[in-house]
Amino acid sequence: MGSVFVCAFLILTMSILPATAQDQSLTGLNALPEVEFAQLSQRDPNPLGEKALAIHPEQWKHAETDHFIYHFVHSYVATPVSVEAEFHYRVIAKELDREQPPGDTKSHIYIFERPEEWQQFQVFGQLEPWTGGIHSAGSLFIVRNPAYKFTDNSLGHEIVHLVLHRFYTDSIPCWLDEGLAQYISKLAHASYQRARRYIAKPHSEAIAEQNLIPLNALLAMTHPPSDNVETFYDESERLVHFLASTDKPSFLALLDALARHQPFEVVLPRLYAGKFASMHALEERFREYASKDFGTSLQQADN
Ligand SMILES: [Zn+2]
Repeated sequence: MGSVFVCAFLILTMSILPATAQDQSLTGLNALPEVEFAQLSQRDPNPLGEKALAIHPEQWKHAETDHFIYHFVHSYVATPVSVEAEFHYRVIAKELDREQPPGDTKSHIYIFERPEEWQQFQVFGQLEPWTGGIHSAGSLFIVRNPAYKFTDNSLGHEIVHLVLHRFYTDSIPCWLDEGLAQYISKLAHASYQRARRYIAKPHSEAIAEQNLIPLNALLAMTHPPSDNVETFYDESERLVHFLASTDKPSFLALLDALARHQPFEVVLPRLYAGKFASMHALEERFREYASKDFGTSLQQADN
């Protein structure tokens, strides 16, 4: 395990297709209209944004949509990112039953294209091992090679973090942030593909019972453990799904309570009264749920 494993995992999950296989529906899109920097409706207070734009400052172009502001080099690279970003925004707002008033804060997305510039920038931020993106204080920094189209949920995963940060500015626990990012981005990815007539169901990995991270350890983690990244993401996603599918209103109330830094073990029996009387009761049922139906989808796991 360790760094070698992380690299292999990255390569496996960053499933990319040559640009020749690009989705025809994207080539028919109107390109994102370019906006002068001075004309953008909002500035990014994040100092990392300034650092990004200082790398070859002449190359950056800018654009915005309802909920995001983009900094990019080529609009044909930024346009599909903007479509995915707004699509995910709608899925998240619906799943979490949240909506912002028009004109509220937008998140900034910086899209690098050249690997050497990305490497130059990476020293400023902490790379997320799963997606290779950097999410920092409500801004997202990514690299997109224009020669490839990314077909997995890694961009969606980062967009979920962005929107969660906007809804819960005081931050939420790591397992919840990562679990929601995986759960919602897979949901969105599947419905995006279904809209394009692919047969797709959100897929979540079952975890062998002996490999499960004990709940108290999982809930206490402040970042994904480098020696157990895959289990951490899968188990966090399964826990989010288990809690949300057991009782959605209770789950949304739990999310609010955890965003206000209330202890999980204190709010759980109150919000899930009659379902989980204690952490022990939750752990027992969750272990069974997380390890069952190896290789089947979330929807099948619900039945
Ligand atoms: Zn993440």
